[in-house]
Amino acid sequence: MNYTRSEVMQYVEENDVKFIRLAFCDIHGMQKNVAVMPCELDRAFETGVGFDASFVRGFMNEVKSDLFLVPDPGTFTVMPWRPSHGQVVRLFCDVKYPDGQPFEGDCRALLKAAVRDAKKLGLSCKVGTACEFYLFKTDENGEPTMEPYDYGTYCDTAPRDKCENVRREICLALEAMGLRPETSRHEQGPGQNEIDFRYSDILTAADNFIAFKGAVKSIAEGSGLYASFMPKPLPGYSGSSLHVNLSLSKDGQNLFEVDSGRHNATAESFMAGVLRRVSEITLFLNPLTNSYERFGRFEAPKYVTWSHQNRSQLIRIPAAPNPGHGRMELRSTDSACNPHLAFALLLWAGLEGVRDKLPLCEPDNRNLFEASEDETSDLEHLPSNLDEALQMAENSAFVQAHLPENLRASYFSQKRQEWQRYRTSGNGQEFERREYFL
Ligand code: GLU
Ligand code: MG
Repeated sequence: MNYTRSEVMQYVEENDVKFIRLAFCDIHGMQKNVAVMPCELDRAFETGVGFDASFVRGFMNEVKSDLFLVPDPGTFTVMPWRPSHGQVVRLFCDVKYPDGQPFEGDCRALLKAAVRDAKKLGLSCKVGTACEFYLFKTDENGEPTMEPYDYGTYCDTAPRDKCENVRREICLALEAMGLRPETSRHEQGPGQNEIDFRYSDILTAADNFIAFKGAVKSIAEGSGLYASFMPKPLPGYSGSSLHVNLSLSKDGQNLFEVDSGRHNATAESFMAGVLRRVSEITLFLNPLTNSYERFGRFEAPKYVTWSHQNRSQLIRIPAAPNPGHGRMELRSTDSACNPHLAFALLLWAGLEGVRDKLPLCEPDNRNLFEASEDETSDLEHLPSNLDEALQMAENSAFVQAHLPENLRASYFSQKRQEWQRYRTSGNGQEFERREYFL
């Protein structure tokens, strides 16, 4: 349900609400929040609630550190795993300067700007995410171990699938939060799971993904487990993706509906736009050194190609028996991304293709996981490590045109430092476990 400000106020008054979480993300998509008591809610809507932005990665420094959180009532939700007496509710917020101007590091605001640009072309974009994650056992101190919760494989049932009860709790919690999980299953890797969502508008999809990660982590913790969204936690096993299923509509019609074997020209140009820019924005879609361990194996893409049902490609058009469900699926993204930033860049890349009426290249219908090096030598490949991705983003006029200078500067400098620390750590795997087991 999409609450209005007065409906939020009414819910808080009429129900036993004690804490209101004002949530936002740092530039890397890590959720943060400040809790206010119910009597402060009106003030929050009116003027925002201040916080020290110098402590938030990529935001501000100590010299100029006051930013304000202004809740977006449409994002209101109860946190169902918290007590039912003295409830905890949450709202995502816009981040503002003291004079009410939007803060450039607020990636929700960036995604809203991309949505406005789509609207100027008469387009609206819907996204459904499909997200994989691992469940690991914890030790006697409650700290995560690297031991998966079970040794189940794809779509297994109990007792091989020990995760079913945790997935059940997660799906019930998501429903109570107004998110709509559609399918859930055990995935290929030991302790690996996937939950897919019903599509929604692209901003809601990004908000929901942040909410989803929080719910999964909290519920796993409540079950004595640790949920990890690390892109490749176990070297010999399947990585964890965040597949982005994206459709476009114009005048109420889904442009990804296939009409007698042909795609709509706008949808094709959109895909061509994404393919043209994807390597330049991979830094933001796959932001960790560990992200690059995933590519090219276990159904994770490596080359900048597209096809239909083919899971060895970067973009595929999945079979959609119901034509209204036509969409493109981008398969490279992982859950370590900041979804607002990633979706904004993807949307802008596609819109640029539409504006330039870019022609779409021919599909590549081979199984690229089985193709020899000779057979793939002429294909463009995704950056092969964080350093390469960083260089491509730093040199990208497209990234420069769309991301504010301060945001770019802090994102690049943090990623540069991360790459250096990884390089000099002496043990990359140890470094990644310490830093990224998120
Ligand atoms: N786990 C695979 C990956 O890392 C994706 C498998 C799937 O298609 O669901 O991308
Ligand atoms: Mg999967």
